[in-house]
Amino acid sequence: MEKNWIIDLVGVSKKFGESEALKDINLYVRRNEFLTLLGPSGCGKTTTLRIIGGFEHPTKGKVIFEEKDITDVPPYQRQINTVFQKYALFPHLNVFENIAFGLKIKKISKSEIRDSVSYMLKLVNLEGFEKRPIESLSGGQQQRVAIARALVNKPKVLLLDEPLGALDLKLRKGMQLELKKMQKRIGITFIYVTHDQEEALTMSDTVVVMDKGKIQQIGTPVDIYNEPKNIFVANFIGESNVIDGIMHDDFIVEIQGVVFDCVDKGFDKDEAVDVVIRPEDIEIVSAEEGQLKGKITSVTFKGVHYEMIAESGNFSWKIQSTVMKPVDAEIGMKIIPENIHIMKKVKNN
Ligand code: ATP
Repeated sequence: MEKNWIIDLVGVSKKFGESEALKDINLYVRRNEFLTLLGPSGCGKTTTLRIIGGFEHPTKGKVIFEEKDITDVPPYQRQINTVFQKYALFPHLNVFENIAFGLKIKKISKSEIRDSVSYMLKLVNLEGFEKRPIESLSGGQQQRVAIARALVNKPKVLLLDEPLGALDLKLRKGMQLELKKMQKRIGITFIYVTHDQEEALTMSDTVVVMDKGKIQQIGTPVDIYNEPKNIFVANFIGESNVIDGIMHDDFIVEIQGVVFDCVDKGFDKDEAVDVVIRPEDIEIVSAEEGQLKGKITSVTFKGVHYEMIAESGNFSWKIQSTVMKPVDAEIGMKIIPENIHIMKKVKNN
């Protein structure tokens, strides 16, 4: 029976001289999924992608493709294609010739090439652009040509390294949705690299959050957002309040001298923990009703909601709410157990 996954990275590490770009990466990529590698600059996303594409060789570990070890297989023999941020199109060839290039090398018949290229142009919404010189196209259009060129060889996996990085915000948003639709329509695996968390959450079936050469968390966008596994993920994906807490028992945590029910267990009694609470998970109530009390010190209008800061003890709580309270208002804050995320303290080194 065919396994559901197409790529498996097994204990992949990569060193450049003394510096370790990747440390023991283990990752399954499922067939036909849109998987995104997300993390800050230098975390190892591009190196991971280049190892999957065959442009880098791991120092340790294996790359498995459809159950075969392809660690030593060169890029052009892998059924994997790459779209780079710099589109790497041939400037002296027109749109048709750019897309057809890979097929011509393979000595495919002219009529077949014509059919494949027109199918691709339709897919990327560039019908009628066949004869246009590359330099006459906008950045977004060039990016579509690059995608068409990478897809025309019918790879089983498409690697995309910050492909929308050079586009302005509006175009970028449009292309995000188009790419996602395109991926579902053609039904192949996309592995996408970005440092933009909103982009990752919008497009992906699976998000892989990376930091310092390691995978921090793998999950659906909803899982990653709602159940961050550590402080790094909580802070990288959206805004968070991270405050000290003490566990009284399983399911009971003390924050700022107040005892809260929570849904996490497996901590020691009296263990010092980090507690993560999303700004939108704090409900503003009257001072009497609140579990915690605070005083509003700043209010910013953000369109769909207000962002407020409430000082309480020596902690500044970030709150997002459609209810606006003015500066100096005394408020109560309520948090339900499911929205209180308890994390082990990370010991430095
Ligand atoms: P960015 O978003 O900035 O591209 P990234 O997450 O993709 O970052 P990588 O490009 O994979 O990160 O780099 C990971 C680490 O490996 C960085 O510290 C980088 O400087 C280093 N590195 C990557 N390629 C090389 C190379 N060819 N030689 C030396 N060091 C490298």
